[in-house]
Amino acid sequence: MSLEENVLIGLEVHCQLTNLKTKLFCGCSSDYRGKEPNSNVCVICLGHPGSLPKPNRGAVEYAIMTGLALNSTINSKTSFYRKNYFYVDMSKNFQISMYETNGSAAICTGGYLDINVGAKKKRVRITRIQLEEDPAKLVHIGPIDLSPYTLVDYNRAGMALLEVVTEPDLASPREARIFLQKLRSILEHIGALDGGLEGAMRCDANVSVEGRARVEIKNISSFKEVERALSYEISRQISQIKKGERVVRETRHWDEIRKVTISLREKEEEYDYRYFPEPDIVPLHITPEYVKEIRSRMPELPDA
Ligand code: ADP
Ligand code: MG
Ligand code: ZN
Repeated sequence: MSLEENVLIGLEVHCQLTNLKTKLFCGCSSDYRGKEPNSNVCVICLGHPGSLPKPNRGAVEYAIMTGLALNSTINSKTSFYRKNYFYVDMSKNFQISMYETNGSAAICTGGYLDINVGAKKKRVRITRIQLEEDPAKLVHIGPIDLSPYTLVDYNRAGMALLEVVTEPDLASPREARIFLQKLRSILEHIGALDGGLEGAMRCDANVSVEGRARVEIKNISSFKEVERALSYEISRQISQIKKGERVVRETRHWDEIRKVTISLREKEEEYDYRYFPEPDIVPLHITPEYVKEIRSRMPELPDA
């Protein structure tokens, strides 16, 4: 088997629930695009001390619908957690997210999506589906590593994001693109998002060659770019292997202008985030009746 045929790809797809009227935990409009920077904000999405987040019921329902569409288990109890990190895109220094650990689950676990690759059908397993808040948008002047400064726009901060994580079941950049297109079409049928909006679906792509270390390419903004970024990264890893060099486990950035991936940092380990339960939000209890009622409101999906 050639190195090109021995590639594993797993995706972490961030889908903005653009059809909700408001953000995930506050009443700010989800229609933030085109507004004056830092005008579509409030004390909650800016994370002022003492402000209290309230989960958006519609976001929970879209997450359940997505889980049903992807054949996932809808968990009866799920909690929000704080994922702690220090960076300018999150002024309160933690992101409210779901978390899978002993005794807690994301809103949906497992599942699969079947895609058509040429004449063949391929099953891509889903690891989990969870809700989290979108960070602020960072604007750079030219390439990220050459920009003299960073501009921060909080209009996007707090937007409801649905994260769909796959198992490393995709074998080529093309399969990754086909998966993303199908996921988009399902989310659009459900009515969760308008995939045509800039940045509505963004993706972290994990890729490894021949069982070596995996590299995570962060925040790729379109399906075409996911395919390009993965193709570049696979060639880069293969050429390193051929030169007898080691592929290191790291996080890389896809530079859309220069069409290369650049190293951002060595991969942080999970414990660096110091996850702990969000004390300001009670756990969600999701009853079978509620799931049934949501299922009854779902439209027919493309495959059916
Ligand atoms: P992290 O905490 O680093 O985000 P996860 O276990 O959540 O790690 O996995 C993130 C993604 O990495 C998933 O989409 C998964 O499919 C993918 N992944 C895991 N192992 C590999 C691998 N060996 N090669 C490529 N992708 C992988
Ligand atoms: Mg991750
Ligand atoms: Zn707000």
